[in-house]
Amino acid sequence: MVRENEIRDNEVAVAAPDPVDGALTFIGRISTPWTSRLTCPRQGRHDGPLCRIEIFEPWVAALDGVAEFERLEILYWLDRSRRDLVLQSPANNGKVHGTFALRSPVRPNPIGTAIVKLEKVEGAILSVRGLDCLDGTPLLDIKPDRTLFKPVAPPQPGDFDTDPAAAIYCQKA
Ligand code: SAM
Repeated sequence: MVRENEIRDNEVAVAAPDPVDGALTFIGRISTPWTSRLTCPRQGRHDGPLCRIEIFEPWVAALDGVAEFERLEILYWLDRSRRDLVLQSPANNGKVHGTFALRSPVRPNPIGTAIVKLEKVEGAILSVRGLDCLDGTPLLDIKPDRTLFKPVAPPQPGDFDTDPAAAIYCQKA
């Protein structure tokens, strides 16, 4: 069930530190048909409505090559979310789940991600399908869908490392 910013039965909010968003740069803005959470889809669909992603300068040159990908991963900032819940009740029925077990927009750092279908690139504007965010949502990043992506740099040994001991070493680092 969609929420505005109210707390539901059995949900738990914490005294979260004052949010500081300054370490991120919003690189663009997303235009969608949805101005209310009541009508916004919970996850986007590739047969959903056309949405527009505008890239701000000086980042437009970074779109070079993007048009070659059928699908892109979009990262965005769910700017109208509350950020202090550790237990949430998505169904608003008293049953709660940990925030990190959910894809809810309510999270300490409200980053949303979607794999979108790229329809068109025209200058600084991408037309895509598959978004699920409110009109005006700030854009954080764009990457090729990882299932389509082939690294352009030469392979390096770690790319093929399956030694469990190495995995433990990585966890400790
Ligand atoms: N697809 C993303 C993900 O999995 O990370 C986001 C999923 S989240 C469940 C999508 C919901 O977030 C929408 O249905 C809407 O209720 C809410 N939402 C969308 N844009 C938002 C915004 N800018 N600020 C706060 N909430 C937003």
